[in-house]
Formats: sequence, structure tokens, C-alpha cells
Amino acid sequence: MTTIAFIGLGNMGGGMAANLAKAGHDVAAFDISEEALGAAKAKGCRTAASGAEAVKGAEAVVTMLPAGKHVRAVYTDDVFDHAEPGTLLLDCSTIDVDTARSVADQAAAKGFAMVDAPVSGGIAAAEGGTLTFMVGGTDEAFERARPILEAMGKAVIHAGDAGNGQAAKICNNMLLGATMIATCETFNLAEALGLDPQVFYDISSQASGQSWSMTSYCPVPGVGPETPADKDYAGGFQAPLMLKDLKLAMEAAEASDTRTPMGAKARALYEHFVGEGGERKDFSGIIEFLARHGGE
Ligand code: NAD
Repeated sequence: MTTIAFIGLGNMGGGMAANLAKAGHDVAAFDISEEALGAAKAKGCRTAASGAEAVKGAEAVVTMLPAGKHVRAVYTDDVFDHAEPGTLLLDCSTIDVDTARSVADQAAAKGFAMVDAPVSGGIAAAEGGTLTFMVGGTDEAFERARPILEAMGKAVIHAGDAGNGQAAKICNNMLLGATMIATCETFNLAEALGLDPQVFYDISSQASGQSWSMTSYCPVPGVGPETPADKDYAGGFQAPLMLKDLKLAMEAAEASDTRTPMGAKARALYEHFVGEGGERKDFSGIIEFLARHGGE
């Protein structure tokens, strides 16, 4: 059993903290939302009155926060001055690579081991303990983090040094955003040309157009496995989160002077979709937006 402070008990963190408690760890949970704290308590966590209180006496600290500015604030205000040096720090939030590297540098200077460990998988995977973690940090920090992450996920992959977990996450999601749009517009074209979507799926899912967006997450209702398309694009991976990840990818592309025209187009289309009714839809719901607007 490890004493673990868990900060950020929202849609994702709530289920992750519960899984750590279920695995027998002593979890001291904190969130600025009373409601989130109450839910964590009901799922076997101890609750703390502040982030600083949660990290006192913890052997590891896990954070699952909205964005880079929250991560920087929580580590600066709550963690670095109140956790014991040597404590293992794991940030599972999706944030920009630069902030991840700079917080990891600060952690190292203060004697902490730290990994960035963003996740692939949504709320259901967080609750079910089937997330995939992409981890950046030293070999030693990764080996210490592995058993904690395994209690919350099905796969834990070392992506390299600090920040590389975030780099893997945004590169994967840039590819996912672009392939989802390509899959959606292709189904729209197939239909316009008189192809039955199921027949096109049967052909393309076994041909060279196949992708995860088609065979595991088909955006057409009633075609392929059950997906958010079958529930009017409710649940799943919300379009604003895809937009967030595409923005992070484009910032990273600019900072590293890398040309990513498909990523840029995907970002623009998701921005348009989110601004025009997609803010509560799964990201595959962009198929309906594309049918209405195309690339305008
Ligand atoms: P969320 O907004 O539901 O949860 C974030 C929680 O952090 C909230 O409960 C908020 O009150 C809390 N918080 C904010 N500032 C705090 C502070 N200073 N101290 C303590 N608590 C604080 O977000 P989420 O959907 O759980 O996502 C968390 C992270 O996971 C994000 O970085 C997101 O991009 C990433 N992610 C989300 C999904 C998803 O499907 N929701 C999938 C993969 C990755």
C-alpha cells in the first residue's frame, strides 16, 4: 500500500482516484469542487482540506487538472513546498510540452522525481481502469511510477525523457483528429455517390483506407461497432477536448518549426464545429457539420 495524494477529481480524476483506493492504496484526495470531493469520499478516498494538506506525508502525488496553468499553480503552491523531497510526482493532465518540461525541471531542482503521464481513453476508461498512459521521465522515475499507473490503466508506455509523454499524446491526437475528419468526409462522399455506408465500411475497413477512426470508432450510426454515433454523438471524447489537443499540437508545431498542414486544417475545422453546436458532442459528430459546411 502506498500513500497517494490525488489532486483534481473531475470527470477523469474521480474514477482514477477511486481505482487507486480500490487497489488498496491510501488516497488523500483534494479538489476545489466540494461535489467532486464528496464523490471521491463515497468511492473510498480520504479527503483533504487543501492540496498542501493532501500531499503531506504522501509517498506519491497524482494530479489530473484541466490545463498547464493549473498544473503550474498546483505544483508551485501546494506540492513543492509541502511534499517530502523524494516524493514521486505524476502529472496525468494533458498540457503543453514546454510547461511539462519546466515543471519537471523545477521538481528535479527541489529533489523530486517526476513523470508526465497523460492518458489515452475517456471517462469510461478512467472509471474502468483501462487507460493507456504515455510516460515521460527518467528510467528510475518511470519504474517507480509504473505500479501506480497500472492500478489505473491497461497499458503504461515509457516515451522517453520529461515532456515526451505529452509529446506522444498530442502527436497521437493530431493524427486522430485528422483521420477522423478524413473518415467523416469520405463517408459523406460515398453516400453522395450512391454507396450504402455499410457496404463502403465492409470494403474500406478491409482495404487500404482502414483506420481506427473507421473500424473502432465509426462516425456513421448503425455501422461498425457501437460508438457515440449510435447515441446521437453523446458521451465519448468531447469535441472541445479534441480542439484543446489540436491547439496544443499546433503550438508545439510552431515552437519546433514543424510544418503540419493537416493538423492546422483539423484544428480550424474543430474550432468551427465547436463554435457551431458541437461543444457537447463527441468528436466524431463532426461528420454532420462537414455534411452541412464542408471545409468552409
Ligand atoms: P475536469 O474539468 O472534469 O476536471 C478537472 C478537475 O480539476 C476539476 O474537478 C477541477 O475542480 C479541478 N481543479 C482545478 N484547479 C484545481 C486546483 N487548483 N486544485 C484542485 N483541483 C483543481 O477535466 P477532466 O475531463 O477530468 O480532464 C482532466 C485532464 O485530462 C485534462 O487535462 C484533459 O485534457 C485530460 N483528458 C480528458 C479526457 C476526457 O475524456 N475527459 C480524456 C483524456 C485526457
